[in-house]
Parts: sequence; C-alpha cells; structure tokens
Amino acid sequence: MSRNNARTFGSALREGREMLKTAGKPDFALEAALLLEQAAGLTRTERILREKEPLPAQADTIYQRFLSERKNGRPLQYILGEWEFMGLPFFVGEGVLIPRNDTEILVESILEKQNDCGTLLDIGTGSGCIPIALGKYGTFDKLLAVDISPTALAYAEKNAQRNGVEITFYESDLFTALPEEWKGRLDAVVSNPPYIRREEIPTLMQEVREFEPWNALDGGADGLDFYRRIIQESRKWLRTGGWLFFEIGYDQGKELLCLMKDGGFVQTEIRKDLAGLDRVVFGRKTETELESNV
Ligand code: GLN
Repeated sequence: MSRNNARTFGSALREGREMLKTAGKPDFALEAALLLEQAAGLTRTERILREKEPLPAQADTIYQRFLSERKNGRPLQYILGEWEFMGLPFFVGEGVLIPRNDTEILVESILEKQNDCGTLLDIGTGSGCIPIALGKYGTFDKLLAVDISPTALAYAEKNAQRNGVEITFYESDLFTALPEEWKGRLDAVVSNPPYIRREEIPTLMQEVREFEPWNALDGGADGLDFYRRIIQESRKWLRTGGWLFFEIGYDQGKELLCLMKDGGFVQTEIRKDLAGLDRVVFGRKTETELESNV
C-alpha cells in the first residue's frame, strides 16, 4: 500500500502563505496565490478547483523559486512579469518602474481636461502605462512618448503593441531627441518624473530601493530637478493654451504650484489621490502677461 505524500495545490498554497507572512509581506495570502497560479500556468478558478490535487513537480520547482525571490524582496510584479494598470495588462521587469495606482489620478485628470484633442507627449514613459491608458480611454490624434532608458522603451513598445495603442517612441533625455516639427505644436505634455529626494531613496521600501530603477525615482537634492527642467523646456514645445500635467510627491503641491506659476502657467490646479494627498498638478501655457492674469 502506498501513501501519497505529494503536496497538493492547497498545501503548497498554505506553505507559501506562511513563508511570506514570516518574511513580513503584508499581502502574503494574495501574493502566494498569484505566484502559485503563475508557476502552474493556471487561472484563479483553475487553481481553486485543483485544491486537493497534487502540484506537478515542475510547477512546484518554479513556485519554490518564486517564493524565495519574493522572500528576498524582489517585487511581486517583476516575478509575475506583468501587472495591471487601469484594467490593462503591462509587461514589467527590472529596469522599468512598476505602474502605481496613484498614477490613475494623473490619467483621469488628463482625460477630464484634454480628451478632445490633438497631440500629447509623455516624458519618462517607463512601462508606457500613461499614454497607453490615454490611447485606450481617450481620443487623441497622436501620442508621443520619450524615455532616456532603452530598457524602459523596449517594455513600453511591447506594452503598446499588446494593448493595441499606436504611440511614437523616442529614446530621449526629456525633449532633446524630439523632432523639431513639434516645436510650439504640442497640445499637452505629461510626466510622472523621478521625484524622490535623493537622500530619501535609501529609506524607501526594500522592493523599491533595491529592485526598481533609481533613474525613475531620483529627483535630485530637493526632488524637483525634473519639474524645473520640464516646466522651462515645455514652453518651447507646447502651443499657447496647451496643458502641462505632472504626477507629484504628496508634499510637493505648494512648491509645484509656485514653479508652474513662475513658469508662466495659468489655471493651475492640484488633484488629490485616494488617500487625500496631493498627487497631480496641472496648468496651461500662456504667452503674455495679460493672459497670465486670467
Ligand atoms: N510614486 C513612486 C514611489 O512612491 C515614485 C515615482 C516617481 O518618482 N515618479 O516610489
């Protein structure tokens, strides 16, 4: 008589949960389930239906590797290789910032202010989540996106294709590689630039500081380096009346309003995230003193 000691999906899941709980991961239950499903190539429903069935050895090996990577701090999203943003799927991995829920506020602000229009440029596109969501939910004539990182751009291109959105990408340090023909012709510029104060980076969560690209986080000594550059340079590229949209850090609202106003932007506004913290700032470009009093 042989006893079947093989681990089942159910027991593997419970062990994984325990392991991640002990490692201090707050979402241990959800994470263990997602890792098991990915390792076995199953949907959630399929995995639940197999609760009492043995976990195939190959899936178990992958699952154990995933759990140990997660225990060591590698972000869940990088292990899974994809993540959702605004209900859309995005490939992610080392070298590209994981799309955050907070960024949905930025996309929604743009759709509210700018849905009927023309050409929009996203600076520092990363996974491409901003222009791809805009392409899916908005009605833009043309979407342009730049990033300084070829790794990020490779992800963004794959993601645009995956979601069926047409975007023209340029490898570029802000506006530097953008064709001259767009000077004064952009209807909107958007950016979620690196905005963490440099000295704060070592204090971020392990997942972020050890695994996510620093060049997507480091905003210089006061976190505002990219805002200053983009506000100044975007004036050459935006048409009069064009919009500039930023995601910002929760404590940067006041400073950004000042920078935007000093840079000649009017109708400036701040939007808060779901936690009630300042998260988005936007405004319109003017040409003259007179207009700036509007
Ligand atoms: N919101 C990101 C974080 O909290 C920062 C992204 C950025 O610098 N643009 O890690």
